[in-house]
Amino acid sequence: MIATTEKIEYGKEIIEFELLQEDRKTLSIEVLPTTKIKVKAPENKNKQDIIKKVQNKAKWITKQKRYFVDNYKKPDEKKYVSGECFRYLGKQYRLKVIKSNADSVKLKNGYLAVEYCLKTPSKLIDKWYKDKALSTYEKELDKCFQQFTTYGLTKPNLKIRKLTKRWGSYNKNSNTITMNIETIKANKDCIDYVIYHELCHCMYFAHNKEFYTLLESKCKDWSKLKNKLEMLIL
Ligand SMILES: [Zn+2]
Repeated sequence: MIATTEKIEYGKEIIEFELLQEDRKTLSIEVLPTTKIKVKAPENKNKQDIIKKVQNKAKWITKQKRYFVDNYKKPDEKKYVSGECFRYLGKQYRLKVIKSNADSVKLKNGYLAVEYCLKTPSKLIDKWYKDKALSTYEKELDKCFQQFTTYGLTKPNLKIRKLTKRWGSYNKNSNTITMNIETIKANKDCIDYVIYHELCHCMYFAHNKEFYTLLESKCKDWSKLKNKLEMLIL
């Protein structure tokens, strides 16, 4: 399987889409609620033919996109009050906020229990996510990197940040993987997929055939996990 980014023009608009060529017989076009467009096509199909088919569907694609822009709301801004749902490692937890004489955040019986005193609940939860993200990613990176030791690579440095459009990224010059803090809301398999993806960039810069062959050998289900991640809104 191979994934590339392609584009078509429709009126004044340039429509970008992700093209996945895989072992399948038919072509499918999907517009996700995030307005991202995914096209799946047979592996051996000519790219120009695929693009032509997508072009023929441009009107429908634009209509779908507009529908999602008009009707799809981002998850509400959090108010950090009891009862709200928070995601962590693929599960949902209900928030319980209690005024107390010390600051603490804990997962307890399906609740995200926050006791606050000096700091606000939002500050405490942000910090909790950051700490959890860093320690989880460090552990998972150690684990995933085990599969890359044979290539004579130096284990990349790890940084966390709030990224708006990506789950992770890799910088070759500083040999650093930057992971989105938000990725901690996805389950561990999804987190591992992101790490494997970035580790494959240590070997190949571009998303070319060699890149995907390597990725598939390390993370067989990467395509499924990627789909799962895309259902989470950043
Ligand atoms: Zn990449």
